[in-house]
Amino acid sequence: MSIIELQGLGKRYPNGLVALEGIDLTIEAGEVFGIIGKSGAGKSTLARCVNFLERPTAGEVLFEGQPLSRMSRTQIHKLRQSIGMIFQQFNLLMQRTVTENISFPMEIAGWKRADIHARAAELLALVGLEDKAKSYPKQLSGGQRQRVAIARALATHPKVLICDEATSALDPGTTRDILSLLRDINRRFGLTILVITHEMRVVETICHRVAILGGTHVAEVGNVREVFANPRTSAARELLHADGGITTDGAAITRLARLLEERGLTAEEVLERV
Ligand code: ADP
Repeated sequence: MSIIELQGLGKRYPNGLVALEGIDLTIEAGEVFGIIGKSGAGKSTLARCVNFLERPTAGEVLFEGQPLSRMSRTQIHKLRQSIGMIFQQFNLLMQRTVTENISFPMEIAGWKRADIHARAAELLALVGLEDKAKSYPKQLSGGQRQRVAIARALATHPKVLICDEATSALDPGTTRDILSLLRDINRRFGLTILVITHEMRVVETICHRVAILGGTHVAEVGNVREVFANPRTSAARELLHADGGITTDGAAITRLARLLEERGLTAEEVLERV
């Protein structure tokens, strides 16, 4: 069953820039779906159009078959509780503790204090931060901050989690931990996850299917392994090449060299991480 359907979706910003054109995508309930593209391809715009944070200028978004364009503001507001989001910069409230951050969406939704308390404890355990309940975001590492953001996004039992470059600010080891947490959440709760990224590795690690966004439109869509093994369009080949293995270009070599320099690692240790 499809949970999100984009039909001929388009977005033209008020300054005339066309960010998205004729996007047709169907995301199935329970899958981890990746949207990958170069910087400026329209990925964030697409992520924001899914829950009408950004209003599309063409086409339609359907959530469980219901067209968003026909929903009232109150209905859209309610729908957003079904779609959690996490971002590259975590977007935590710095003056609030971890528990207070996680409790925030439940307060907004008008939950009872006892229910908030119980759910916050459950979420802290889920993301492995029981011992950080009273810490403030600035006392946490990047990976721990993203765990708080995940717990907060899941607080009101959403059906979909949108991850907009959620691991792009994290080092490779922390990225692996966060991706494995997301995969675990997908498996345990059947949560649908929409992963927006410019990194092929992220898609390979957790996504079942992927859409390649190439300059405003969908260049290819399909099973991750098939799309990555047999890219049919130049947009796909370019993207895979740019983020590809050690043999492809200077970018990977530069990344290796930087890792070596920053961490004082051996070549073997570095190869394990790239
Ligand atoms: P990505 O997430 O793939 O990097 P974005 O969705 O952020 O791409 O941006 C797609 C295009 O839309 C870019 O050319 C960007 O400059 C433009 N854009 C993004 N937000 C706005 C805005 N609020 N007003 C005008 N143009 C925008």
